[in-house]
Amino acid sequence: MHHNPISIQNLSYAYPDGTQALDKINLSIKATERVALIGANGSGKSTLLLHLNGIIMPQAGEVTIGEWSVNSENLRNIRNFVGLVFQNPDNQLFMPTVWEDVTFGPLNMGVQGEELLQRTLQAMTAVDIDPQWYGQRYTNNLSGGEKKRIAIAGVLAMNPQILVLDEPSAQLDPRSRRQFIELLQTLPLTQLIATHDLDLALDLCDRTVVLSQGQIVYDGPTEQVMSNPEFLDGHALESPLCYSRPYCQLEHAPVKASRYRELV
Ligand code: ADP
Ligand code: MG
Repeated sequence: MHHNPISIQNLSYAYPDGTQALDKINLSIKATERVALIGANGSGKSTLLLHLNGIIMPQAGEVTIGEWSVNSENLRNIRNFVGLVFQNPDNQLFMPTVWEDVTFGPLNMGVQGEELLQRTLQAMTAVDIDPQWYGQRYTNNLSGGEKKRIAIAGVLAMNPQILVLDEPSAQLDPRSRRQFIELLQTLPLTQLIATHDLDLALDLCDRTVVLSQGQIVYDGPTEQVMSNPEFLDGHALESPLCYSRPYCQLEHAPVKASRYRELV
């Protein structure tokens, strides 16, 4: 296992129309660390994540995944190592049926027979997609939340070392969201999760990185930034629900309980 499976140095990126999406990003993530990436719309989260498996190549600076620098020669190794779940599942699902979609990645890596079967069943079960019921259904006809779960299953079936998730809870109903949080908690993988769901970030990640206009403006403990409404507001973010609703705060950590006492 690599000490820092994700290492980003001085990464800058401008889109062809000149939009500067990332500006001198430096970020290292340790093995099995779970990190939340938050920031307002357009702050650069998706652009940053798309660099991690070489969908976007670095223009300036360097991205290293495990022992590989992100460049066209290393793409195959990098994509076997990093599982990326896109913000919009319509960009991810492209096979006609659910079964074909989930098996596509491992098949492409040369996985066959019993192992393919086991990996696919395991990945579908992990995201609460019943293989019997969903296997032959057409991916086109599913709801947003179902598509998202199948996109996640397709990535899990590839057995990645690093899981990169772009807005994973956005289309999920509350029960699927809760199950998904529990799943991520049990996966012994390095995880980087871009999210507007700050309660999910609090539940899952000890560390949070805040992006604002393509720059990292905070990298530290999640509790600390979530309990700073002025800072969040300054970067167009809202406090998590559990900090703004007194009845939730009772169930949480001492920091929140003490804030609750201040409020009542
Ligand atoms: P986020 O995921 O945080 O909402 P993005 O990474 O999608 O942010 O976008 C960062 C910036 O880059 C925004 O200003 C956005 O408008 C711009 N952007 C994103 N995709 C493109 C594109 N294909 N062409 C031009 N600008 C883009
Ligand atoms: Mg985005």
